[in-house]
Order: sequence, then structure tokens, then C-alpha cells
Amino acid sequence: MDRENFMTRFTVEHSGLLDVIRQGLLTGAEEKKTVEAELYKLNVYGEGAFFKPHLDTPRSTSMFASLVVVFPTPHEGGELVLRHGGKEWTSGVWAEPELIDATYWEFSEAINKFLITAEKILPPYRFGVYDVLVLPPSFPYGGMENACLTFLTPTLLVGDRTLVDVVVHELTHSWFGNGVTYVSACIPYVPPSADNISPTSHRQANSTHFWLNEGWTTYIERVLLQLLHTPADRGFSFLIGRTSLTNALKQYTSRPKYQRLVIDFDVGEDPDDAYSTVPYEKGANFLLHLERMLGGLDAFLPDTCA
Ligand SMILES: [Zn+2]
Repeated sequence: MDRENFMTRFTVEHSGLLDVIRQGLLTGAEEKKTVEAELYKLNVYGEGAFFKPHLDTPRSTSMFASLVVVFPTPHEGGELVLRHGGKEWTSGVWAEPELIDATYWEFSEAINKFLITAEKILPPYRFGVYDVLVLPPSFPYGGMENACLTFLTPTLLVGDRTLVDVVVHELTHSWFGNGVTYVSACIPYVPPSADNISPTSHRQANSTHFWLNEGWTTYIERVLLQLLHTPADRGFSFLIGRTSLTNALKQYTSRPKYQRLVIDFDVGEDPDDAYSTVPYEKGANFLLHLERMLGGLDAFLPDTCA
């Protein structure tokens, strides 16, 4: 036997993995508890082989997790999918150590509820993981959608879970994000050339249909508010939005182009100049109008809205 090909010097104890697990899972008084790993199984997969879906059986009362270590061998595929309660996604929270307890308390329950509710009216969540990251106070937005990981301001940590609905909007972007709406619907990217040193930038080109992203997200966000709370919550959110739409339209009285839902940007024009609640509110109201024309939510949504 060629020892170099069959042996590894890897040991869990010396890898530092257990420290990471302990710091990630144990907080407060539990922080100093020791975590031990016991080798259960070594699987060696040949070409085309795979591990069938299975449920880990607890091997003792003190077992709380399975640690899967994948050795670096050349392979394709091999995605690990965690299923829980029939769902193919996991959710979690991230924050600096001093905020992690508050973050977990504020958001962990709500996130799962939001995902389950969203899947009642939308196709299944496809990203596998949905986490939120609470950033330091210098983060300049309330929330920012990133695939799998929504960024949030720490000002949402109010201790009574009254501001968690911000996550509904960011979560909805998982279905109506830049990659599936506003990029694919836009005019092609024009690269720089000798006779055109100021080409249509990718960003400018795609901002034309920005409302497909934010209008749909705002519309679905409010449907979810109705399902999570009451129809009045949805209506109230449209009312609040109307005020901000009126203000945004006033702001652009001298530049009426930016009052439009679809904006044809000129070369060199900065889409940030046009950024306002117009694509959010006008977009959501346009979709609400279509919904009402077609006979309400039951007729408009692909799935029945209970
Ligand atoms: Zn948004």
C-alpha cells in the first residue's frame, strides 16, 4: 500500500473545526462547554457514486449534530442539501458576537415563517440557504438583498420583533432580484470601442426596467403582509407607499422622465439620479391594477391565495 495515497494527517481535534463549531453554536454560559467529535463513518465514493438522502439517527442523548468533512479530491457535483420539515432550505442569522443573541431572538422565528408563507404563493425557494447578517451601525440602508444573505441595519434590533417585516421585502428579492428580472429584460451591454468611448454601461442599460425588480418585490411583499397579518396590513402599506410616491413625483417635476415606470437612459446618464420610490410604488400599483382588473388575488396569483 502506498501510504501517501491512502493516509491523511487530518484530525478533527487539530483542525480547529471544533472551536469554530463551539463559538458558532454555544453562547453565554454554555460557551465554555467542550464539544467532542467521534468518527462514525468514512465514505469513499467512486465515479458516479453518490449518497442517497437519509436522516441521521442520533447515536446518544448528547449528540447534537453531524459534522461532514469532505476531503479535497477532484470531483464534480457533490452538493450537500439539508432538508428539514420537507423544506430544502436552511435559515440562520449572522452578527458580531455582542449582537448575535439579540439578532437570533429578533429574526430566527420570523425568517422561517416568511419563507414558508412565500412558498405558498411563489415557486419553492431555490437558493438552499437564507441567512440575514446584521451589520454595524455604519451600514447605510435598512436592508439590502444579496443572494442567500440579506444585509440588515442593527436599528432593527428593537427587542420586540416589531420591525422584522423589513426582511419580507429583502426575502422577496430571492424571486424578483436583479438576476431574474432587470438584467434579462434589458438592452444589451455595449463595450467601449475606439469611436465610442462612453458606451452604454451595463448598469445604465439595465436600470431601464428597474421596476421589474422593485415593483414586483414591493407588490409580493404586500401580498405576504396580508397572509402573515391581515388584508388591512397590505392596504395600509399601499397607503404609506402612496405618500412616498407623491413626494417622489413632486421631486421630479422638472425632470418628468424620471417619473416614468420605464426610463430610457441616455449614454452617460447616471441611473442613481433617477433612484426614488417611483419604480417601487408605481410598479406595485401597476401590478395591483392588473390584479384588480383580472378579478383579484385568486385569479392573479398562480397559486390560490388563502
Ligand atoms: Zn427592494
